[in-house]
Amino acid sequence: MKILHNTTVITPSGHALRTLHNHSLVFDDCRVLALGPATDFQPRVAAGEFDEAIAGERHLVIPGLVNTHHHLYQSLTRCLPAAQNERLFDWLLNLYERWRHLDYEAVNIAAKVSIAELLLHGCTTTSDHFYMFPRGGDVKMEAVLDAAEQLGIRLHLCRGAMTLGQSRGGLPPDDCCENDQDVLADCQRVLDAYHDTSDYALRRIDLAPCSPFNCTRELLRDTAALARERDGVLLHTHLAETLDEQRYCLERYGCRPVRLLADLDFLGPDVYLAHCIHLNDDEIGLLAKTNTGVSHNPTSNLRLGSGIAPIRELLAAGVRVGLGVDGSSSNDGGNLLGEARQALLAARTPAAMPKSTEGRVPCPSPLKAGAGMPGAMPKSAGGGRGHASDDAGQLFPVADAFKLATVGGAACLNRPVLGHLNPGAAADFAMFRVDDIALAGAIAQDPIAALILCAAPRADRVYVAGREVIHDGRITAFDESELANQMNELVAARFRGD
Ligand SMILES: [Zn+2]
Repeated sequence: MKILHNTTVITPSGHALRTLHNHSLVFDDCRVLALGPATDFQPRVAAGEFDEAIAGERHLVIPGLVNTHHHLYQSLTRCLPAAQNERLFDWLLNLYERWRHLDYEAVNIAAKVSIAELLLHGCTTTSDHFYMFPRGGDVKMEAVLDAAEQLGIRLHLCRGAMTLGQSRGGLPPDDCCENDQDVLADCQRVLDAYHDTSDYALRRIDLAPCSPFNCTRELLRDTAALARERDGVLLHTHLAETLDEQRYCLERYGCRPVRLLADLDFLGPDVYLAHCIHLNDDEIGLLAKTNTGVSHNPTSNLRLGSGIAPIRELLAAGVRVGLGVDGSSSNDGGNLLGEARQALLAARTPAAMPKSTEGRVPCPSPLKAGAGMPGAMPKSAGGGRGHASDDAGQLFPVADAFKLATVGGAACLNRPVLGHLNPGAAADFAMFRVDDIALAGAIAQDPIAALILCAAPRADRVYVAGREVIHDGRITAFDESELANQMNELVAARFRGD
């Protein structure tokens, strides 16, 4: 049993987002055991009751952030010249040419780089949507699992897949695709071997056909059925990311993307969808009615010119919304605090303002309206309306951006023990130095706003399941510079653009 003593803790709690000064956090190698005023614990600290007492006076402590969408392997091709200025489909076509050369070792090294970057900025849980298995190669899910285990991050590893190649009307080259039956067999294999259904699991397997333009309808349907034969297996895919995708679905299937998934039984409380930019009101209503989650990836969406997801409308409708950095080839970084800032800025652009500002339907304050975050943000009286800040035209609030990256992500992944630091939460937290120059001045005003509005700093120390994985701003698993050098050499030798 350890104690993080006499520190400042920020945590979602019930409806509120609380900043607790001079508090202490007691935890073991699994969960938070107690959170209370430091004076309550002082006698026990003085008596040496704890295995370790970590001095917290110089730190700001937040729950480990939850990233709901990533492609860890894509750090191999971040900033690839041919993909710097392209929209999604051309971006992908250029990248497939590099990704078809993936092998186990390259995926493993890239995953380490991406995970290190997440941890260094306070993210302790990530989903990884891994769908690239070049034909005849040695790439396996274990390449990612090994990296996550070494670095100590909590992982939702999505067994992704592409099975609709160009010869059958899909976007990717045929040699980047598998066949449906092989995919389903490997889903069974990794579920049997690695899926952990326990509340505090460090590793879960989700099933995730890549998207409607590179998977068969049958794979989407059969994967959903397979997931539901098991306990606690989530479904994930990309959806409604671009107008090109919408056109593709209309031409090939005669319906829009959300309808396609609905017809294949691929919506529900066990589903979270990346992007969801191009939605109409009926589709937002359907996601809410089916309790389908959404992973919002604003940086990637802006980088690729895809658009801005209507998260205010989604949240107001009660949809569970989490935040994702998306793959490193379209972000090109893994800083989830920075992503929360990006979400706030994107939601404040005129194009993303609620419809009420255009004189149409009033839109309530987003997260106050009950966004399906268990125990954290139930609907307020009056269905979420009537709060003083519900005025039409209200800017997306700082506190809501923080919640997206914490309890929002936890709700998206159906993990109520994540995203907060109340007793019973997983012992996942990040500590930022109060004397970090990036926060100087701001932290004296408002610690939450300092983390969201200032340039996101590196975390000083990070714990996952009570284990320290970042110390003094460096990863503890291995030498960070060596990893970066190894990555640069690998990319220069095999993945560099012309
Ligand atoms: Zn993605």
